[in-house]
Amino acid sequence: MEKVLCTIAFAALCVVAAPAQTAAPAPAAAGQTKSAGENPDKNQMTPAMTETFAPVPPVVDPGYADVVLPAPSDAIILLGKDGKMDEWKAEKGGPCPWKSEKDGVMTVAPGEGNILTKREFNDCQLHVEWRSPNPPSGNSQGRGNSGVFMQNLYEIQVLDSYDNKTYVNGQAGAVYKQSAPLVNPCRKPGQWNTYDIVFIAPRFNDKGQLLYPARVTLIFNGVLVQNDFAVQGPTLNVGIPRYGEPYTGGPIKLQDHHNPVSFRNIWIREL
Ligand code: MG
Repeated sequence: MEKVLCTIAFAALCVVAAPAQTAAPAPAAAGQTKSAGENPDKNQMTPAMTETFAPVPPVVDPGYADVVLPAPSDAIILLGKDGKMDEWKAEKGGPCPWKSEKDGVMTVAPGEGNILTKREFNDCQLHVEWRSPNPPSGNSQGRGNSGVFMQNLYEIQVLDSYDNKTYVNGQAGAVYKQSAPLVNPCRKPGQWNTYDIVFIAPRFNDKGQLLYPARVTLIFNGVLVQNDFAVQGPTLNVGIPRYGEPYTGGPIKLQDHHNPVSFRNIWIREL
């Protein structure tokens, strides 16, 4: 019973803390690095402890036209209409295992692993278009799941969130397990969604202490869903996010969550 009460109390704390767009960042703590393998909470917590289910973001219909937003002249093209994969590599090493198809559409190769940009980025504006499989298969986190990781650490969730229940801080447009989207403007499976992300990297002083956290603004299908959110640390499936070792730069990562989500028209502007 004591364990159950403890879990309920912790879950209640997460409900209060997670959805706020201005949630205070956790204090800097040692032990969290760019490696996902070093997680001090891994053996003490479960994934369910950081899932929140309320309030449910209201559904907003963003309308639909299958339009590719042209890249501005100062953007770096990460995936263009020519489908060239020159800017990407496999996270596990070697060439990019995902292939582009007709008109520069690239689809996750399930089981082949995540992909990273060869370049690293700090403050930036990132445009990504993505499409969940149609017909849909699976449910909750198993339906059209991928992700866009800023600096390889902070996941903006990609998920088929059209009529698909899951924890709200894990639906499309969430800063994963930290901030649910303000509303849910996800389009139907098979239709293209757009993410326009403004990412401000965290800053550390010369002693390695956090000066200010990363910040994320996200416009999802033309609708604001993250409003200058103060990121609490690298996003985690298990555990409490926190900042650790200082760093500068990091690649953009696209996630292989074993679902064949497609991407097109990815470009970035350094700020
Ligand atoms: Mg994901």
